Amino acid sequence: MEILEQMGAEGHEQVVMVSDAGSGLKAIIAIHDTTLGPACGGTRIWPYESEQEAMWDALRLSRAMTYKAAAADLPLGGGKGVIIADSHTAKTEALIRAYGRFVDTLGGRYLTTTDVGTTGRDLEYIKQETDYVVGLPITSGGSGDTSIMTGLGIYMGMKACAKEIWGSDSLMGKTVAMQGFGKVAIQTAHHLMKEDAKLVVTDVFDGALDRARDLGLAVVAPDDIYDVDCDIFAPCALGGVINPASIARLKCKLVAGGANNQLFSDTDGESLHRLGIIYGPDYILNSGGIINAEAEIGRQYNSDRAREKTERIYEIMERVIARSKREEIPTAKAADRLAEDRLSSVRSIRRVYRSR
Ligand code: NAD
Repeated sequence: MEILEQMGAEGHEQVVMVSDAGSGLKAIIAIHDTTLGPACGGTRIWPYESEQEAMWDALRLSRAMTYKAAAADLPLGGGKGVIIADSHTAKTEALIRAYGRFVDTLGGRYLTTTDVGTTGRDLEYIKQETDYVVGLPITSGGSGDTSIMTGLGIYMGMKACAKEIWGSDSLMGKTVAMQGFGKVAIQTAHHLMKEDAKLVVTDVFDGALDRARDLGLAVVAPDDIYDVDCDIFAPCALGGVINPASIARLKCKLVAGGANNQLFSDTDGESLHRLGIIYGPDYILNSGGIINAEAEIGRQYNSDRAREKTERIYEIMERVIARSKREEIPTAKAADRLAEDRLSSVRSIRRVYRSR
């Protein structure tokens, strides 16, 4: 599909392609929708095989950010930046600062933060070129590590789902199978362990498994995680892991984790629904990170405010479940409708003239 045609079909507002010969920067910034506020989303640095692949990722990820911010009740739109480079070998101060200068040219229509391949240090370089950056390290006056609130949000979302399934939101004694034991999973695990849930984890990285064993957790081989006899399956690593092959193996009543794009396709959300397995939509449960970053926009970062907003993920998940039941649709679809309703209601007030 042609790019403008694809933008039109999915409602994207603007795509900016940038190139800086001096630093070798090649990047794309996609702004999906600014109905609710400035487009916000991280910058991904990835060695894409083609410009088309990078464009597709920027369009897809920026749209997902619109839905995430809308459902989380944030005054933000959806955007995403991608830099075509290998973050391990090609990342330089000049490249990152050149990117920051281009972010600045958008005049605040796009606010960037971290994503795959970018770190707090990179944001500090970007900050030297533009104010349109959030999620800076606490030592630089920002809101710091997003995974703390992301983990809290996943835990709150799990509890709301548990209430629906088991009649109580207590997770005591529930077995949770976690795929991936990185930053987000560890933060989620801390909450689960405090509540005496039983954790079974896997990871492809030995260091992560050592951390799990140090915490006294049961560990299984990566491919065995789907077969664990558990109450909750928590994808906390990769996207696309909920697919026909994995669904056939799952023994849980709830799928709820932090990974982005967990469903391989919409059909997989429908399959879970048919099987009576509740799915906590990824962008509802993992929105704690963006909620945390938003808490520093235009004001001094306040972790209590971020925490209080993140805890509301419980109520948002309850609304998603209620809508899914009322309209007899999978929770993933109910979440989309919730976000779309907010976007269209805010769009509708734009007909009211304001003098500024
Ligand atoms: P991370 O890199 O710290 O952790 C991911 C872990 O998954 C790593 O330990 C990695 O070894 C492991 N892993 C990779 N492939 C695996 C496989 N096939 N099987 C088992 N384990 C595997 O990343 P993170 O920040 O914890 O993010 C995890 C997920 O949550 C990602 O999908 C990310 O996009 C999403 N997410 C993160 C945040 C955040 O605040 N960090 C916010 C929203 C969404």
